[in-house]
Amino acid sequence: MATLPKITILGSLNIDLVSYVPHHPLPGETLSATSFKVSPGGKGANQAVACGKLSRSSSSSSIPPSAQIKMVGAVGSDTYGTLLLSNLSSYGVDPTLITSIPNAKTGIAIIIVDEPTGENRIVLSAEANNLCSGQEFIEKALEKGTDLLIMQLEIPMETVLAATEEAKRRGIKVLLNPAPAKKLPEEVYQGLAHLIVNETEASILGEVDERELDTEEGLERVSEGFIKRGVENVVITLGARGVYYMDKSGKKGLVEAEKGIKVVDTTAAGDTFVGRYALDVVGGGFDIEVAVKKGNKASAITVQRAGAQDSIPWKDEVE
Ligand code: ADP
Repeated sequence: MATLPKITILGSLNIDLVSYVPHHPLPGETLSATSFKVSPGGKGANQAVACGKLSRSSSSSSIPPSAQIKMVGAVGSDTYGTLLLSNLSSYGVDPTLITSIPNAKTGIAIIIVDEPTGENRIVLSAEANNLCSGQEFIEKALEKGTDLLIMQLEIPMETVLAATEEAKRRGIKVLLNPAPAKKLPEEVYQGLAHLIVNETEASILGEVDERELDTEEGLERVSEGFIKRGVENVVITLGARGVYYMDKSGKKGLVEAEKGIKVVDTTAAGDTFVGRYALDVVGGGFDIEVAVKKGNKASAITVQRAGAQDSIPWKDEVE
């Protein structure tokens, strides 16, 4: 059997503790939640799940997977950590390179959702995600045979920067999704294969007012800025407007979002996009326009369902 392309995600793993409430509690108020759920999250894990599900069929049918997906990161030595690892496995992600750190806690997001408005308030405790530093993580992330390394910014910045530089030295392609947006040193952009940002991230990193991104000319200028800084492929996801892309050869365009769909919950839309696009990066004969169109279609499925990782489609649901 031919070896499958290998994608590694180096990033965060969290447990989301979500309470749905009739109104946000006031200072000192104790409020009964209408409902509560525990769900796996973290941008790193969500993007790993997107790669896992989109490269595999929902049933254990005869359709073979199209890529090998590994996650590198850290969890605590607690039940939440164990839950996160088994959850990844169930979605086709190999969790064996994830470090369980003794005496550390797994990253937690406490999320309170105001039911009438859907507005949420989030308290994030990064915990083990903050301990993702040192050469050990970089070596795992760039293990022999890795075709693409995907990273976000929910683990220490030094790790992301060091892994990016080492990947470039070893000729391993990097897809960076700099979320949540933080200013990056200029050398990150030089030779970066894929930069995927949403509007907020594009405006912060591109150093322009978000209104600039309202027009195609503005999107073109911002994308050109990233290309001039050394990025090979730039993608700006625009929520309900779709996706803008540009590559270093000057190929560019705006792909409109799928129309006529009933949007239920946009959580994990961007993560789904990253996963579907990444599978095209390693699939052979990469064409940015094709990859963006597939990402746009896959994330349109995610927004029509509630939840984060649950809402990401499997391979057979997008084909
Ligand atoms: P993020 O979740 O990272 O902020 P976006 O909100 O830009 O990312 O969404 C990512 C992609 O999901 C969009 O580029 C688009 O393809 C799809 N998408 C998001 N919202 C909608 C929507 N309302 N209708 C159709 N597609 C959507």
